Amino acid sequence: MSTTIASSSAEFDRRARRRLPGGVNSNVRLAAPRIYFERGAGARLYDVDGKDYVDHLLGQGPNILGHAPEPVQSYVSSAVRRGMVYAAEHEEELIAAEQVCDILDWPDMVRFGVSGTESVQAAFRLARAFTGRRRIVRFEGHYHGWLDNTLAAFPAEGGCIPASAGQVGDYLEDTVITPWNDLDAVRQRLAADDDIAAIVTEPVMLNAGAIEPCAGYLEGLRGLADEFGVVLIFDEVITGFRVALGGAAQRYGVTPDLAVYGKAVAAGWPVSLLAGRADLMERFGTGEVNHSGTFNASVMAAAAVRSATATLRDTDPYDHIEKHGQQLMEVIRDASNRHRLGLHVQGLGMAFHTSFGPEAPITDYRGVARTDGAKYGRLARFLIEHGVWVAERGVWYVSAAHGDQDLHDAESRIDAAFRAFAR
Ligand code: PLP
Repeated sequence: MSTTIASSSAEFDRRARRRLPGGVNSNVRLAAPRIYFERGAGARLYDVDGKDYVDHLLGQGPNILGHAPEPVQSYVSSAVRRGMVYAAEHEEELIAAEQVCDILDWPDMVRFGVSGTESVQAAFRLARAFTGRRRIVRFEGHYHGWLDNTLAAFPAEGGCIPASAGQVGDYLEDTVITPWNDLDAVRQRLAADDDIAAIVTEPVMLNAGAIEPCAGYLEGLRGLADEFGVVLIFDEVITGFRVALGGAAQRYGVTPDLAVYGKAVAAGWPVSLLAGRADLMERFGTGEVNHSGTFNASVMAAAAVRSATATLRDTDPYDHIEKHGQQLMEVIRDASNRHRLGLHVQGLGMAFHTSFGPEAPITDYRGVARTDGAKYGRLARFLIEHGVWVAERGVWYVSAAHGDQDLHDAESRIDAAFRAFAR
């Protein structure tokens, strides 16, 4: 297998850098090697030079059913022949909304959006309108989108700072940063400040490491939110329809007031959803709280949500995904031992994290920050060159489309990549 980045990709990249800043369309992609993909099918990506990759990045999570999944592909293609954007209501959005509320079982209502970033903003606005308060408690290492009031870096001394030039840092002043998996810390923040509107959390921390909530933690957040009268928001953009059909709320048995879904909810099509209780969500319905969007609930978006969530419900791939992921974690641990890399592997089968870090489980962002990210970034490049498409930041995703052959190929490619890295 070739260990060089493909020649046509290199040529495309030279051209792209003239017309696309950095040659990419999302800063998250700046660090990755520039490979131009021709297509994705199932668990594989194929580049323009004909090389295939076992995909464990899955578009940063959305492709829970693999690439170009049937029956979603056919359903959406056929639906959009009726047009795409009506700026009016249609049956597809209604059925998708009913179905999502049915599947999740706790929300009364949903509001469609286009990206996780903007649906998080809708949740904040709703929480502020509902409580008449301003500040948001959130957690070190969590990601809630790229806008000025959410994009943050977390310095060792605590708090958060803007993570981008041009970002208006003042907007972060309404953010109260707290260590995760520490209920006392949250209680202290809530007790000290009567202007907190909401607590927002990734219910499994997957933007830095792969860290499950400690036993009782999400229940504890629920209790604190009730005690202090603040809105509990689960940011389920990664966990929704991935860690269980009903996301983390179902998996851990804790019901938020509002939750944001994205990524897997539409199996790869660009859609987000804000879900919640009627007494909150109806603030949009009365017009008191504004949330708008030209492309909200386009025919494509609604059809994708309808078909993807029905497929996930009816095929129930979660045991398969978890088992495949657990086997893959073992493959990585074995190869790491064989080549004496000392990799730390942690998380759920369906979403886990590898790092050059400690032996012991990592339980918070500080633990993740102590791992050697630069070294892992170099290892990720070896994996990619050997035909395993992974994130530089160490997260691995598994889809329903990953099968025995994919595991087999991943195993030999991981072994070859680790051997080359160890040289
Ligand atoms: N919230 C979480 C937990 C995410 O992981 C992400 C993106 O990765 C977002 C929000 C932002 O979603 P989007 O990239 O669709 O704007």
